Amino acid sequence: MTASRQKKEQNTPLRAVLFDMDGVLYDSMPMHAEAWVQAMHRHGLTMTDEQVYMNEGRTGEGTIDIFTLEQWGREATAEEVEAIYRTKSDIFNELDEAPAMKGADEVLAEVKGEGLLPLIVTGSGQRSLLSRLERSYPGYFNSDLMVTAYDVKRGKPNPEPYLKGLEKAGAALGRGHALKPSEALVVENAPLGVQAGKAAGIRVMAVNTGPLPDDVLREAGADWVLPDMYALLDWFKNTEL
Ligand code: CA
Repeated sequence: MTASRQKKEQNTPLRAVLFDMDGVLYDSMPMHAEAWVQAMHRHGLTMTDEQVYMNEGRTGEGTIDIFTLEQWGREATAEEVEAIYRTKSDIFNELDEAPAMKGADEVLAEVKGEGLLPLIVTGSGQRSLLSRLERSYPGYFNSDLMVTAYDVKRGKPNPEPYLKGLEKAGAALGRGHALKPSEALVVENAPLGVQAGKAAGIRVMAVNTGPLPDDVLREAGADWVLPDMYALLDWFKNTEL
């Protein structure tokens, strides 16, 4: 190995980019907010738009428990969780399909062009996720490059989803072990997602595509906060990684 090659490798430890999905690859949070607020209301619970954004990234069960604990003084039963989450999913599915996030395809192309591996780490458990991704972002993802609600016991803000992402990245790159946290970058839009990435020891880029103030993302631990995916595209083009 030449000295310059060695230097370059020391300067480019990044190997994978772990993308959150809702609010990062899809402009889906307004629909999720509407579905959550309505579903909770139908089941006798109150949830505001802002609370949806503050709890974004949690599993359905985790979200429901927070509100039944606060408003009913107890965790939801398994039947209640199922019923409320089914209502939420039904409402969500009746709404227009969320559009792909503007600029996200350019970001993925840039990431791949830089020789980095893109993965998805989402708390979503929609069965149709992969076919949807294949339509929006053809050729980038398969189940080996995705962590969903089915892959983890504990959702964000627990680090488990992102630790699983490091494992899947390591496997996809032919290593016998997980990537080191320093070899990855997380892209998140939500405070709990930022916390999950930081808890896994990974640097976190927050892209603030929703209504919360930037400070909420900084306080959650984001290393950088950018306004949208076009700003992230510029950042990837102009930053030595
Ligand atoms: Ca998100």
